[in-house]
Amino acid sequence: MIADAHAHFFSRNFFRTLGREAGVMDEADVVLPQRLGWEAPGDDEALADRWVTELDRHHVACATLIASVPGDEAAVATAARRHPRRIAGAFMFNPATPDAPARLAQAFEHPGLRTVCLFPAMHRVRLDHESVHAVFDAAAAHRRTVFVHCGVLSVGARKKLGLPSPFDLRLGDPLAVAALAVRYPSVPVVIPHFGAGFFREALMAAQTAPNVLIDTSSSNGWIKFERLTLRDVFSRALDVLGPTRLLFGTDSSFFPRGWQTPIYDEQRAVLTDLGVGEADQALVFGGNFSRAILGESTSEGVRS
Ligand SMILES: [Zn+2]
Repeated sequence: MIADAHAHFFSRNFFRTLGREAGVMDEADVVLPQRLGWEAPGDDEALADRWVTELDRHHVACATLIASVPGDEAAVATAARRHPRRIAGAFMFNPATPDAPARLAQAFEHPGLRTVCLFPAMHRVRLDHESVHAVFDAAAAHRRTVFVHCGVLSVGARKKLGLPSPFDLRLGDPLAVAALAVRYPSVPVVIPHFGAGFFREALMAAQTAPNVLIDTSSSNGWIKFERLTLRDVFSRALDVLGPTRLLFGTDSSFFPRGWQTPIYDEQRAVLTDLGVGEADQALVFGGNFSRAILGESTSEGVRS
């Protein structure tokens, strides 16, 4: 079974939100994809179906699809409701808005919304701010996962549309994630892209807090900051975390490109080359996802 722990749901509302920034008020969900050379998403049901067709084509059992602008929970809720066994909903969330607690409580009422995604560098929120604690409190109460983007952050669509990205990368620090994770030991906490440049810090966070998981998604372009290969990265991560806390992901996002097979092929080849056995690979490519994201009990034990 393959599960993809990290892909994006670029809904109509995603493009309409970017459209307001880009000064495109009418039909931004058609005009912006056209500008980007991407397919228009259609409504949320159509995009959910498009994704499931794509997952079928690549024999992917399940994927986390992330609503990628704040306030777009409803889009992934619709997708997860339509395909509950195939789509796990996740949503970008800005904890520092006045209606954040109510929005989050409402989102977690939906069983298909599994993960709340924080982007502290983008929203310029310190991870030790009380609003972030409130997110972890809610995740603990509702048995959900928190994803915290750390390290370098670039949003392809914003870049291509010429929109500014005034991010403060200092705020996406895995050590700040670790400080939270140790206070909420029941909450699985996902750091994507091996820390996206904060690799050492992501490993330190994972060693400090056993509830921290690392996702392997994207082309991991941050490696250019290090004298490392992807093989080295997997090898070190496995040394520190073992096979039960790595979550395979692709960071797939738009159509017609669709699901990113090359990322899967490369990571599968790296693990095989490292001599990682079938059972451990099955954890990385799916078992850990079932346990940490879906909250299912597995032979590795119930999500604590
Ligand atoms: Zn991503």
